[in-house]
Amino acid sequence: MGPMAPPRPTLYRDAALADMAGPSVRKGVSVLVTDRRIAWVRPTSDEPTLAPNIRVIDAGGSTIVPGMVDCHSHLTLPGGSHWIDRGADPPEELLEVAEHNGDLLSRAGVRWARDVGSPLAPDPRDGRRRALALRVRERWRSDPSRPRVRVAGTWISHSGVITGGLLIEADDGPALLRAASTQLDDGADFLKLYLDGPKKEEEAPWSTEDVRAVVDLAHRRGAKVTAHSGFLVGSRVGIDAGVDSIEHGFELDSDAVATMARQGTFLVSTLAIFRSWASFAQTTTLPRFVSDEGKERIALRRERAIESARLAHRAGVKIATGTDFGGGSLRANHLAWEVESLVEAGLSPAEALTSATIRGGELLGEAEAGQLVEGGPADFFLVHGDPLTDPTALWRVWRVAWLPE
Ligand SMILES: [Zn+2]
Repeated sequence: MGPMAPPRPTLYRDAALADMAGPSVRKGVSVLVTDRRIAWVRPTSDEPTLAPNIRVIDAGGSTIVPGMVDCHSHLTLPGGSHWIDRGADPPEELLEVAEHNGDLLSRAGVRWARDVGSPLAPDPRDGRRRALALRVRERWRSDPSRPRVRVAGTWISHSGVITGGLLIEADDGPALLRAASTQLDDGADFLKLYLDGPKKEEEAPWSTEDVRAVVDLAHRRGAKVTAHSGFLVGSRVGIDAGVDSIEHGFELDSDAVATMARQGTFLVSTLAIFRSWASFAQTTTLPRFVSDEGKERIALRRERAIESARLAHRAGVKIATGTDFGGGSLRANHLAWEVESLVEAGLSPAEALTSATIRGGELLGEAEAGQLVEGGPADFFLVHGDPLTDPTALWRVWRVAWLPE
């Protein structure tokens, strides 16, 4: 059977179910999948008579979890301790990296990836330079076993921030607006602004008015705008300009989170970055991770970032979440690490899993993403343990319903 042939109807029998509809898992549940959709969800004690062609999987001892949504990913980049250098690798290699990342995502139970930036590379169709992840999106569109992706195009940044010429630079309002328009013309699903400027701790790269003009343009064209922000000054400009989400938000204060909650601005947390960097003190020789000074700097930023997420959560900000794999040092199969980090920041395990599923779908504007409902897509995976009380259960993936066997 080829990968595109419709799979046999499949019954998952006697699993626990973590669909976030209640405070705890439902035990003794059977789920029937036909044509890649959930035909029904019932108590195992109340299964109807099954057609003879149905394949039965004994799911006893496992928990069914909705496919997760990695809201901060970089599909074309590999991550690791040299993650920045890898951005300059040849486009053909980065496209192979994306295929590997696609496998890693699925095997880790991640159904959706929101790509928040990829390098510009010549498009073989017309030689024009476009964000590489747009090509990955086209490749994967017709393959139901590949991650479902939405793509921001490339990063739009002030000059003097990120080297290598892999992104679009804009130093004033008109240039910013032109850059935004180009990305949308190229087919970006949303826009990614880099709100850390050359003096990132002291001033934002653009004015609130300049950023608001981009938000207005994008919204008129049916697209959202998100903003990378590691520091408070940049976050303030993004929030006041009405961006739809703040990525990282490592330095939010109580004013910022109050405004975000009131406006419905999402926070996309990426706290596991700091756990990853801390691990490099043991596994690399790079001074920024190994030296006492480096370790102290990372520990301080980590504390501040956790405090930001805690403030946002308490204020009622909608929190989606992601690994930053590729654009940071995590790998594509590490979203469980981020769910653990959100629990450390004060979310309950169920709230943290909601961030990694339903909330991510909300930010994408995709009604079916992160959901597990009768009639919906069979986008779920099975783990051992109860992720509504223990986020580490998400590491123990047994099966993935959308992958061919
Ligand atoms: Zn990133």
